[in-house]
Amino acid sequence: MVLTKLSVRLRIAIVQLNPQIGRIDETTFRAKQLISRIEPYKPDIVVFPEFALSGYNFHSRAAINPYLSLPTEGPAWNLSRDVSKRLGCITVMGYPEGRPFKTDENDKGKVYNAAIVVDGNGNLIFNYRKSFMYYTEEEWGCSENPAGFQTFDLPIHGKARDPETGHIHDIALKTALGICMDLSPYKFEAPFYDCEFATFNIDNGTELMLCPMAWLHGSSVTRDTPDPDQQKEQLAEALKKQHLPQTGSQGDYQVDIQTFDDGNSEINKCEENDDETLDVRTSYIDLKKPDMSNVNYWMMRFMPFLALRTRESWFAQRLLFPLIAKFRGIRSSYVGSSMHKSWVFSGKNAILVMANRCGVEDGTTVYAGSSGIYKFNGKFENEEESMGASNRSVDLLGNLGKGHEGVLLRDVNFEIER
Ligand code: GLN
Repeated sequence: MVLTKLSVRLRIAIVQLNPQIGRIDETTFRAKQLISRIEPYKPDIVVFPEFALSGYNFHSRAAINPYLSLPTEGPAWNLSRDVSKRLGCITVMGYPEGRPFKTDENDKGKVYNAAIVVDGNGNLIFNYRKSFMYYTEEEWGCSENPAGFQTFDLPIHGKARDPETGHIHDIALKTALGICMDLSPYKFEAPFYDCEFATFNIDNGTELMLCPMAWLHGSSVTRDTPDPDQQKEQLAEALKKQHLPQTGSQGDYQVDIQTFDDGNSEINKCEENDDETLDVRTSYIDLKKPDMSNVNYWMMRFMPFLALRTRESWFAQRLLFPLIAKFRGIRSSYVGSSMHKSWVFSGKNAILVMANRCGVEDGTTVYAGSSGIYKFNGKFENEEESMGASNRSVDLLGNLGKGHEGVLLRDVNFEIER
């Protein structure tokens, strides 16, 4: 079979929010304000964070109960449909999935951390459940996705062009959702280099990865913080200095819109980056700049998609892959190498969209914002050494800052084979 390369152009937007528990109406109101800023641009896809409207830090099943809903009910469904129909776009939004129990019920049913995908007509295309649990999910008894990581076909109309014939095609993009911890090693215990989510997507030839997240900033107080009281004070101090309430910034929007129509080129290695020499525990400052320590870490988690010179030496050890597969689950590649190819992703393209939340919950959990759009370009095999964002095989198309609500909109161009 002869494959043709099609060139796809998509307009993608991310809405970064700071949802606080018990404040759904206010969060929905701000989300609508942000949507009206991008409405004239008619994006193809809009991605919202994990638990986009409900807030994240629930400490018991009873606490989350009033916020549970089925995929096609509740505030996330209502807002997603509204956005989809108004903009004619695909909307992705994280929400707590489950059937709320009544006080006299014994059977409490399963609950999930999920995200819906709604098409431009307001129909549900897919409901993905988070596969890897973070500590917080354990507090309210969240179940793992029984299906594990999944891909699905995302229908895209009139956006793929055959450069030879000039014909425009309707396509189905191979798409995967990953919710926050899905990007981390399973239970923080799996070997770092397994990169489970990225490897799954390399092995399945995923073209578009959409990630609703509530990823923590390094200044958070977690169960691993050596001096929690001191860290809590430092955080309160940082917020006070920036004249922000305990919950962080809301309503002071960062709007970052760049389109090809305005003559903007695609590649944009974020100029205004954080100073990486900062101690992360005191670095909740410059809230309009992305948190590069997290951006670099995320890129490391997508290592199989990055061009790396050292991959040659991993490939040299490929006879060990069947053993790795045997002991650590079935997969056909390892850190991007297969038995047959040094870099499985060579010459391919994939788009990654990370919609993270921002703000602070409980005065302890700080979210990292820094939502971004990335293109893995499949180039520079054997030329690159960096495992972070400076690696030339990843184009940073744009990032929001770490601490403000806002919206990021970019045009992306990439190739697929059909
Ligand atoms: N690994 C992520 C973090 O440390 C997990 C958070 C989440 O799943 N929401 O922030």
